[in-house]
Amino acid sequence: MLDEALMHYCEEHSGEEDEILKELARETHLKVLKPRMLSGHLQGKFLNLMAKLTNAKNVLEIGTYTGYSSICMARGMAEDGKLLTIDINAELEDMVRKYIAKSGLDEKIQFIIGDAIEVLPQLDNSFDLIFLDADKENYENYYHLTVDRLRSGGVLLADNILWSGKVLAKNRKKLDKDTEAILRFNKLVNEDPRVENMILPFRDGIMMARKR
Ligand code: SAH
Ligand code: CA
Repeated sequence: MLDEALMHYCEEHSGEEDEILKELARETHLKVLKPRMLSGHLQGKFLNLMAKLTNAKNVLEIGTYTGYSSICMARGMAEDGKLLTIDINAELEDMVRKYIAKSGLDEKIQFIIGDAIEVLPQLDNSFDLIFLDADKENYENYYHLTVDRLRSGGVLLADNILWSGKVLAKNRKKLDKDTEAILRFNKLVNEDPRVENMILPFRDGIMMARKR
């Protein structure tokens, strides 16, 4: 949404992306389908700071992909923190585990391969920070499955909630399933009295909701 040059300026003034993350981004672009899904430096730094600012001890991520966002959040957590990340795509496993190990985060990150819709009801943990970034069609389901596990003062972040601008009728030809699901999700969060929320209009839009 921001002018490309401005975006670049923001990235250049948001700390530095370290070598491991750079390598992970490069390998993702070379070997993995849809590298656009990778968080990247600006969003990664944002997630890293969010983990620090919420003093997160327990983080849940739905949608690991190649592990960029997991590593950024885990690095922002205290030594004894635990991040649980779930992805349905078993083909990503080797790469994710390789970069978790390279970052020295084996102890902090638990990586589960599976359909989050099936995995989430089996968890009994509570969380300080939740990053929702998997299939958009299930955003509402993920919200219902996790909001009760968010501690008071905890934060839920959901990515891609502007869906390249398609939340606005003028930016789409017809209403597709993903866009419909995102519209319903944004409405659901905005009308839920249990949280206080806002949309951060950077990158593809992030919904931030703080549990009361
Ligand atoms: N968080 C990552 C990007 C995630 S991309 C980053 O910022 O770098 C979205 C991921 O969601 C994909 O890897 C996809 O395999 C996963 N996904 C899709 N449907 C899922 C489901 N039902 N359960 C778990 N993961 C799912
Ligand atoms: Ca995303």
